[in-house]
Amino acid sequence: MRIAVGTMSHETNTFAAGSTKLEAFSTAIDADLLKTNEVGRSLSGIVDTLEEEAVEIVPTVGASALPSATVKREAFDWVKQRLLDRLTSEDVDGVCLDLHGSMFVEGEPDPEGELLSAVRNAVGNDVPITSALDMHATITERMVEQLDGIAGYRTAPHTDVYETGVRAANLLLAAVRGEASLVMGWKQLPMILAGEKSESEAEPMRTLVDLLRKADRIDGVYDANYFLGFPWADTPHMGCHSLVTGGVSASAVVDETAAELAQEFWQRRHDFAFTTEAHTPSTALDEAAKISVRPVVIADTGDIPGAGAGENTTNLLSEILNRTDLGTPLIAIIADADSYDICYEASVGTTISLSLGHVYPDRTPLEVTGTVVKHLKTDAVRTSLISLDGGADVVISDSRTNVHRDPEFVRRLGIDLTTRDVVVLKSGYLSPAWKDVAAKRLFALTPGETNQRLTQLPYKRIPRPIYPLDNDTTWPS
Ligand SMILES: [Zn+2]
Repeated sequence: MRIAVGTMSHETNTFAAGSTKLEAFSTAIDADLLKTNEVGRSLSGIVDTLEEEAVEIVPTVGASALPSATVKREAFDWVKQRLLDRLTSEDVDGVCLDLHGSMFVEGEPDPEGELLSAVRNAVGNDVPITSALDMHATITERMVEQLDGIAGYRTAPHTDVYETGVRAANLLLAAVRGEASLVMGWKQLPMILAGEKSESEAEPMRTLVDLLRKADRIDGVYDANYFLGFPWADTPHMGCHSLVTGGVSASAVVDETAAELAQEFWQRRHDFAFTTEAHTPSTALDEAAKISVRPVVIADTGDIPGAGAGENTTNLLSEILNRTDLGTPLIAIIADADSYDICYEASVGTTISLSLGHVYPDRTPLEVTGTVVKHLKTDAVRTSLISLDGGADVVISDSRTNVHRDPEFVRRLGIDLTTRDVVVLKSGYLSPAWKDVAAKRLFALTPGETNQRLTQLPYKRIPRPIYPLDNDTTWPS
């Protein structure tokens, strides 16, 4: 049995400045795809599952990048062409892919649909295709038409990416072996939802994810999912979805289960609220100043690199520098290549002046002076820790990065987190490791490319009416 595997993973923020070129992606082709951990998230779960079953794996292409602005057509075409070149030159019994599901390419709001149509065209109608998807995927009709089965993450923060790959591979194996002929049922709900209101350990997602596990046990159902879409993309396919993969012989049950799951989700729509105490920026700082435990970790939620923002706004830093009641706060990270170059050229202990990042939305840089404390280079990024004259420490990097999502990175900069009153992270909901560190968590609802106040976003292409922009939206309409 020969199964092709591949990945293209990008969560696209269409409100983010600039565009995403091929150079922004980590890529691997052919045999190299199986030797790297840099590409794909569920791919290792797919590959391990197939290897256990002694399947001959046909690696195709992999490309993944940190969420960012709209993807350049050339980048998408490069990945698509390599995938097709491989699939048209090989005979395969099945295809298992690791996709995000909320990519947006120049001129194409449904690139996963386009990619899957091309794959279907290359392998024909008799070869099963399944995919692992991110919980924040935006499901389209074209994706469902081309795929035989889908497995999505059930956790946010995403801690089950490997297991999702295992589920996608098992769906494929069942289809290839002829144990099951797959069918999918799905419903689109007219609603948008921020990840910061839908962590899986908080209600109502906790209960809703339990319903998926219960649905898995229904005769004829193999894998039940909710997909929440990605609100920082102005796409005509926007929505939340239920999606169930099951056996063809139970297609009525599969449809019914998808409809019931959608109904349960819709009934809870008013219950989605910020999973962490959320405030305006100045109130978040006031609250942090009042709290006696340390550190208070404040998420700068308008500028989340993990949701595609530029990681370079200084609105919150600017407010912090005007205060003296927060000890010596740490801000991680501001991505600014020009400022980083100045830091890097300066030796430790030197005083420097920087035009740092920018204040959103007018893009004026923040003028600061400070002293270089430390330089740190990792495989992913180059950084400098600067002690600013206003009484805050800031980590400046040469490029956008997520490395600070692991507090170990901050420790490597020589910082004892237990001594800090306030740590500001360019983050939405915190990673499990930061939740362990934080004595108290707060969201600062800052302006930016990942503005959490979705009603303020300048949507032009999303379907209307949609909840909560249109509060009286009904479903079914
Ligand atoms: Zn996600």
